[in-house]
Parts: sequence; C-alpha cells; structure tokens
Amino acid sequence: MGYSEMACPHCGQMNREKCNAWMYGSPIRECKICGKKYVDNRYREPAMSGIDTRTASPSLYLKMTGVFFAAALIVGGWQFISANAAGYYYTRMVILSVLLLMASVGCLVMYIRIKLGIEAKNNAKYIAESEERLKDPAYVAELIAYGYDVPERFKSGTAVRGEDGE
Ligand SMILES: [Zn+2]
Repeated sequence: MGYSEMACPHCGQMNREKCNAWMYGSPIRECKICGKKYVDNRYREPAMSGIDTRTASPSLYLKMTGVFFAAALIVGGWQFISANAAGYYYTRMVILSVLLLMASVGCLVMYIRIKLGIEAKNNAKYIAESEERLKDPAYVAELIAYGYDVPERFKSGTAVRGEDGE
C-alpha cells in the first residue's frame, strides 16, 4: 500500500489517495475537492497494459537481495571495524547499512512471494478488478475520449454487447 498525490488541474488542490504498489487502477480520477474528473496517467489498467513484469521476475529480486546484502555488509562491516580499531563510527553510515539490510530483506520477501505464486494470485485479482471496470461502456468511452488506446475486446460493450461471459 502506498499513497499517490496529484494536484487537481481544475481547482489546484492536492488529492492524496491510497494506491497499491504498482498503481493499478483507473487513470481517470475524481477530485475530492471540486468533484471534477482528471487523468493521472501514473495509474494504469492492468487488463489493458498488462501486469508489471517485475512481479513475474524472481531472479531479479534474488539478485537485488544479494546486492543490497553485500552493500549492507560492506558499509556495516566498515563501521564495525572503524569502531573497534579507531574508536569512532558514523551514525549516518550505520543507518545506511540498516536501510540496505532492510532493502535486502524486502527483496527477499518479494522473491519468496513470486516463488510461492502469491504475486501471480495478486496479479490475477488486479486484472479481474480492471476487467470489471472495463465492462462499463461509459468508462471505456471515457478512456477513449481521454486518448487511451483501449483493446478491441473492451470496446464491444460500447456498440452492440456481444456474448455474455459467465
Ligand atoms: Zn479539483
């Protein structure tokens, strides 16, 4: 979970809202202050643009785990040696090594999540939500009006509704 911030182009007020890590969601946002709609193209519909390829790349996270861990060891080890041998260390560097270690653990967690299929399950959920939004012909028409290249299969609803899925 994270937050996105964007100033409304109509009233200039800042909109702060919760979003998921990959900013999956409708790029058409509604201003909480003036109620007008605007586009935040950092948001994306995964059913249209596909999922973030990083969520299907365990080797990338394993590599990053190693890199962060090695960096944490180097920075932390240097401060440890300095503290023992020379009697001083830099607080900033100790904090940095802790942050590197946390980043390493974060990447390891992501690696495990991909390996266990948790990310694939999440992606399926995000795509299902996205497809649900795209079932609304008014929403599809709005996306097209804003210049989005909507795949044909979502456009059927705007003209004649095709066969109904289950
Ligand atoms: Zn506004």
